[in-house]
Amino acid sequence: MMAQSPEPKADEYIKTGTANVPDERGYFGKFGGRFVPETLMPALDELTAAYYEAMADSNFQARLAHLQRTFTGRPTPITYAERLSKALGGAQIYLKREDLAHTGAHKINNALGQALLAERMGKKRIVAETGAGQHGVASATACAMLGLECIVYMGSVDIARQEPNVFRMKLLGAQVIPVESGSKTLKDAINEAIRDWVTNVTSTFYLLGSALGPHPYPMMVRDFQSVIGIEAREQMLELTGRLPDVVLACVGGGSNAIGMFHGFRDDDDVQLIGVEAGGHGIESGEHAARFADPALGRPGVLHGTRSFVLQDEDGQILNTHSISAGLDYASIGPEHAYLRDTERAFYTYATDEDALAALKTLSQTEGIIPALESAHAVAEALKRAPLMPKDSIVLVNLSGRGDKDLGTIMRELGI
Ligand SMILES: *Cc1c(COP(=O)(O)O)cnc(C)c1O
Repeated sequence: MMAQSPEPKADEYIKTGTANVPDERGYFGKFGGRFVPETLMPALDELTAAYYEAMADSNFQARLAHLQRTFTGRPTPITYAERLSKALGGAQIYLKREDLAHTGAHKINNALGQALLAERMGKKRIVAETGAGQHGVASATACAMLGLECIVYMGSVDIARQEPNVFRMKLLGAQVIPVESGSKTLKDAINEAIRDWVTNVTSTFYLLGSALGPHPYPMMVRDFQSVIGIEAREQMLELTGRLPDVVLACVGGGSNAIGMFHGFRDDDDVQLIGVEAGGHGIESGEHAARFADPALGRPGVLHGTRSFVLQDEDGQILNTHSISAGLDYASIGPEHAYLRDTERAFYTYATDEDALAALKTLSQTEGIIPALESAHAVAEALKRAPLMPKDSIVLVNLSGRGDKDLGTIMRELGI
């Protein structure tokens, strides 16, 4: 089965242990860890051990590298946004084109990596949860290709809102199970997926969609997404002869950003900036900016990990708002809380309005319609580039394409 995969070159191996975090208990400084029922501990230990074994196995690495190339379409290119840079009159803007990866976003990098790990562990049944459906589609895609059974839990409210993605998942052979408990959205779907995993742990692998959850997920998802940053660093050196001054990425759970940042984190002169969803503005309270709102965003535990969480005075998790479903989550990956604490990365936000304007600008200057999530990172580039010298470089992670958002965009822009 593995024989036809060519050996990867050394630089194609997933880099683990290049950062000194997390520690063996899964802590990134004060953040991360495992806040789960005792019954889940053995499954998480088994997963951690299997993950380290897989990373050390050149056959696994070769198979992953081969599929990244032949199935996902990696490496994704970098595009110089020449007209946009000229129009802004400052820094030169480059785009890492994760929108050109199979299924149209970076989520496939992680789904493929975890599905291969499940296969290696002999687990033929995959459970996942999804809110907007993007992670469900990526999981269903990887499972179809590997011949794994795929069960996706999804709140019934989200099912009604995300019909095309529900149809995609079904077409890919996944079973979509409606969740009717609680608010019938993502957090209820997560609870159901975990319940399923605990019940069927010997046969089942839980495929988690962002750099979140209990250890080892934040580390594992980071490593599978770090292909973005490792490629981008090499490509920028080749294209421009140097490293970018600023690297920008949008931050929902934080997987595309951490994957991009990871490639540059040892380059002290490269400024790393994450962009959260500012929704209707910080003052409105209707946003998903966990770092930018000192009143509502505080350290806390959500879904198995300690990070920054939007919560009220009693610690009740708050409802969030963003025009982009992928950034609309009350917590943020623990490694981002750590990078912020240590001042290796900085975080800002873009509002719904900023993101829409940036989406339109990028579409009309470069012929690229970004996902609404990615448009938040583009919005920050539009703000910063004019203030920077012409010989400076901004690299934006374009996490996905905008096709999935056309309905929202049409409604909001009225075109
Ligand atoms: C899901 C999604 C995001 C947000 O998830 P992260 O884990 O923060 O990367 C960003 N962009 C796109 C296109 C997405 O589909």
